[in-house]
Formats: sequence, structure tokens, C-alpha cells
Amino acid sequence: MALRGIRFCKDCANILYAKEQYDNEGSNRNLIYSCRICEYTEKATKAEDYLVYHRQVRRLAEHVATDYKDYPLDPTLSRSINVSCPRCDHREAVLFHSEKEGGESGMRMTYVCTYRGEDGACGYSWQS
Ligand SMILES: [Zn+2]
Ligand SMILES: [Zn+2]
Repeated sequence: MALRGIRFCKDCANILYAKEQYDNEGSNRNLIYSCRICEYTEKATKAEDYLVYHRQVRRLAEHVATDYKDYPLDPTLSRSINVSCPRCDHREAVLFHSEKEGGESGMRMTYVCTYRGEDGACGYSWQS
């Protein structure tokens, strides 16, 4: 499994993509982050990348309800295309009723983004 962190371009704030680059002698591999929108690149050490990866995993764990991550694979759940994922703008989500947290009475609707791409599933969940 590749260790990848998410960094943002200092020039245009788009996501930087990690890639490997050989130095001038062709002997050392360096990990660099490059922007696909502008020409911005920055170098990262393996150790740095490792740290970024772990920080990112922790951040995702806080924001993504891991319980809901596999819900988009459940064919029995309702789907809605009248939504827009707050994280990735994908326009389809599965939805289901869930009880309100904190002892409040009543039901609310939970949505889980169904986006799956080559960089993984979004799985973002939100309530309305
Ligand atoms: Zn850029
Ligand atoms: Zn999404």
C-alpha cells in the first residue's frame, strides 16, 4: 500500500499529487508533490510523507463516520441524485433514517456519498 498524504499547492490551493522523481545523477529517488493546475512542486522526504499520511488518517477518522463507509455498497438502501456531497461534489448518495443524537426525539436523514474513484471512495456522511 502506497503511503500518500494530501498537500495543497501554495500558489493555487489545489491538491498536490505525490510522485517519484530521480535526481540529476539518477541514483536517488525523491518524492515530490506537484500541482496539476500550475507548475508548483515541492520536495518531501520519505519521513515527512509518512508523517503527513498519519496526520491525514487521523483527520479522516474524525470526519468520516467509518460505520457508514460501506453503506454505498448496500443495494437495499435508497439512493438520491438530488444531493451534492459537501466534500467532493459528487451528486449521488445513499440515504437512510437514523435517530437523532443526544437523546433528541425524532428522526433525521443521513446521507453517505457514493463516489468511488481510482483514489478510493469518498464515503463522506452528513445529516439533514
Ligand atoms: Zn497550483
Ligand atoms: Zn463525496
